[in-house]
Parts: sequence; structure tokens; C-alpha cells
Amino acid sequence: MRKLVIAIDGPAGSGKSSTARSVAKTLGYRYLDTGAMYRAVALKMLEQGVEPQDSRGIEELLREIRLEQKEESGKTRILLDGKDVTDAIRTPEISLWVGPVSENPTVREFLVRLQREMGKKGGVVVEGRDIGTVVFPDASLKIYLIADLGERARRRVRDLHGQGIVQTEEEVREALAKRDERDSTRNHSPLQAAAGAIVVDTTDLTLEGQVEKIVSLAREREKPQKLKKNP
Ligand code: C5P
Repeated sequence: MRKLVIAIDGPAGSGKSSTARSVAKTLGYRYLDTGAMYRAVALKMLEQGVEPQDSRGIEELLREIRLEQKEESGKTRILLDGKDVTDAIRTPEISLWVGPVSENPTVREFLVRLQREMGKKGGVVVEGRDIGTVVFPDASLKIYLIADLGERARRRVRDLHGQGIVQTEEEVREALAKRDERDSTRNHSPLQAAAGAIVVDTTDLTLEGQVEKIVSLAREREKPQKLKKNP
């Protein structure tokens, strides 16, 4: 059985995290949340007062950074320099700040290298914005998740509520639309469906439905590929 790299990309709130985590669990794969890595770098920059244009300051900050992701009782925990920042990276402030941070080429090169290293052995579900296009263009399975802006805003309001953060649907919808625009139009690694990606619209799908669909595609591709006979 081949151990695949599964790339899941899409805009904020399209269901990437819950889907990727669940697909990984079902297949016995590791799960990698690359958005959390950009958020953790953004948090560290905010704490140290390093601006997104300050490439030298960023290089220095990245030289010492330690990023880890671990699964703990069904929850994905993010550690920044050994400290648990799982909740601290999900605030509306970081959601705003992460846009300009993720446009910095030094940040992108550093994180792309790290992500390739973490996924090179396969058996991993990687979610983000540029996984199928840049990080793992040869991934065996590429998924591009989309959903209605209204539905994505409702999902995000529920997630934030679970963290004790109250925002209206209107506020979240506006912030998501801005982030989509920024992620899709930036020069460096813009958000777009990779060549060969399967587009899945999750607006009316249940989580179980979307997971089942991706798992069955993965199982098919895990089978040893037959060699084509020479004519
Ligand atoms: O997935 P999440 O919403 O946590 O990602 C936060 C931000 O990090 C995105 O809006 C995007 O700007 C950036 N990001 C990125 N490339 C990735 C993952 C996230 O630029 N692979």
C-alpha cells in the first residue's frame, strides 16, 4: 500500500481543518495544518514588534523559532517555542495580521521548506492555500474545497463562539471576504485550485459526506499503480 501525500486547499471556512483532520484519522495518516504555522509566525512577530516588511528582522526571528503540532485527545495543539498557542493564534487580531505576514517571501520560503520536510515520507494530509500548487505539486491526491461565503461565515462564527469570542455573522463575512481577496490576488503563491485538483463544494455536504468522498479517492490511489505495458 502506498502512503500518499494528500493536499487540501481552499479559502477560509471551507471546512479544510475538520475535513483534513478526519481524513487523516480514518486513513491512519498524520495531519499538518499549515495555516497554523503562518499564524504562529504572525503571533511571534506581533509579540516581538517585527513588521511584515522587515525581512532582516524576520530572518532573525525565524532562525530561533520552533514550531510543533501534536494531537492530544482529539484536538490539534500548536506549540510555538515550546508554548501552547492553540487558542492565541485564532483571535480576530491574528486573522487580520496573518495576511501581510504570509505575503513575505522570507516567511513563505522558510515555512514551505519546513512543510516539505515534515511531509516527505508520505502518509500525511496537508491543508493550506498553496499545498497542491507549490508545497507538494506532485501530491497523489489534490482536493480544492469551496463553500458559499455565507455558509463559511456561519461556520466561523460557531468556531469563534466555541472559543468564547463573540462576532456577528456580518463582521466575520466581511473579514473572510477581505482575506479571500488578499490570499487570491497576492503575487507570491496565491490561493488557486492546483492543476489536477478535485473541486469539492462543501456548502450542502455534511462533514461525514466530504470525508467519505476524499477517503474513498485516497484508498483507490493507495493501491499499487499498475505499470503500463510496452506495446
Ligand atoms: O488556514 P488559516 O485560515 O488558518 O490560514 C491563515 C492564513 O495563513 C491564510 O489566510 C493565508 O493568508 C495564510 N496561509 C498561506 N498559505 C498556507 C496556509 C495559510 O498563505 N499554506
